[in-house]
Parts: sequence; structure tokens; C-alpha cells
Amino acid sequence: MPRYEYRCRTCGDTFELSRPMAESSAPAGCPAGHTDTVKLLSTVAVGGSASAPAPRVAGGGGGCCGGGCCG
Ligand SMILES: [Zn+2]
Repeated sequence: MPRYEYRCRTCGDTFELSRPMAESSAPAGCPAGHTDTVKLLSTVAVGGSASAPAPRVAGGGGGCCGGGCCG
């Protein structure tokens, strides 16, 4: 479930909520009970790793395979 970040304009606190995307714009009360909150630009991290392993690029110094000498 995506996480959304909100900021309370009453106490200035920021907090995160995990909620369905359909409710991302629904009012979110701050942990202190205030309701005057705004949704911040979300840093959505829905599982998965940050970066997939990049394929090795052949070439560059002494490698046998990849230079064409093996094939
Ligand atoms: Zn608050």
C-alpha cells in the first residue's frame, strides 16, 4: 500500500499514512488530532528495490569474452 506524507498546519508536524490510492486525497488527521493537514508530494515506495542490477557493459581492458576473441 502506498505511503503518503502529510503536514499538519496547526502544529507543523509531518506524518505518513499508508492508505489506498483512492483515499490519498481524503482528509488525514494528524497524530495530535488536528485536521488542518495538507498532503505533501509523496515519496511513494511500493516495494521493490531501488535499483535493478545494471547489465554489465562489455569492453574496456583485457576482458576476453565481449571483445570478440571468444567467438
Ligand atoms: Zn497537528
